[in-house]
Amino acid sequence: MATVECRGIRKVYGALEVMRDFDLKIDDHEFVVFLGPSGCGKSTMLRMIAGLEEISGGDLLIGGERMNERDPGDRGIAMVFQNYALYPHMSVRENITFGLERAGIQKSAIEQRLAPVVEALGLGVYLARKPTELSGGQQQRVAIARAMIKTPEVFLFDEPLSNLDAKLRGSLRVEIARLHRDLKTTSIYVTHDQLEAMTLADRIVLMKDGRIEQMGTPEEIYQTPATVFAAGFIGTPN
Ligand code: ADP
Ligand code: MG
Repeated sequence: MATVECRGIRKVYGALEVMRDFDLKIDDHEFVVFLGPSGCGKSTMLRMIAGLEEISGGDLLIGGERMNERDPGDRGIAMVFQNYALYPHMSVRENITFGLERAGIQKSAIEQRLAPVVEALGLGVYLARKPTELSGGQQQRVAIARAMIKTPEVFLFDEPLSNLDAKLRGSLRVEIARLHRDLKTTSIYVTHDQLEAMTLADRIVLMKDGRIEQMGTPEEIYQTPATVFAAGFIGTPN
């Protein structure tokens, strides 16, 4: 069961407080989008959930267990980044399987897990290539495959489509929605793009200046923005 709960989470960098009073309970299998302008703290919050950034205050629970000091590898999460973060000297296959190999999983077991992941993302013909020989969209598919093969309970995405052109953004968005549904994961997706938020989210968490401005279904936020900021960011109904 992969609920994610943020209880009064706070983040400071030295004297700078970039996150405060962040309270959120995400249901098992929910698709939540953190939406907000650049610099509002979306990545910082996601990285704290992933364990890539220390939590300054409050509690983080995944599946009901406190995670504040837990290693990233032991949280049941996998993350996809904006810049793909692939290893340039490794083949596509090695990029996808490296994490499992390092975890000491047997070769035969890795092959078994690789097949459906490669199939789901249409990567079969690219396995021997290096990332630099792939388009941006293909590279991001590899990054998603690398996350997926960990069979995470919680999938974290940080602006995964921002570097892609509009057409690819559309098709990969559909794939991400399908994977979320098929894999029955809980997903947290960071973006500054309201269209992505509206089409992917069960629930949007609208953020401003390191705190939650409003949350609700896309319809609720669109129809009933609670503040001038929300209305301006989402666009008001006519
Ligand atoms: P977003 O992802 O919404 O664009 P970020 O989470 O990257 O926002 O940043 C939130 C705030 O935290 C910004 O003001 C940013 O400058 C600040 N910040 C992020 N990382 C650091 C850091 N390592 N040191 C100091 N300030 C940081
Ligand atoms: Mg960011």
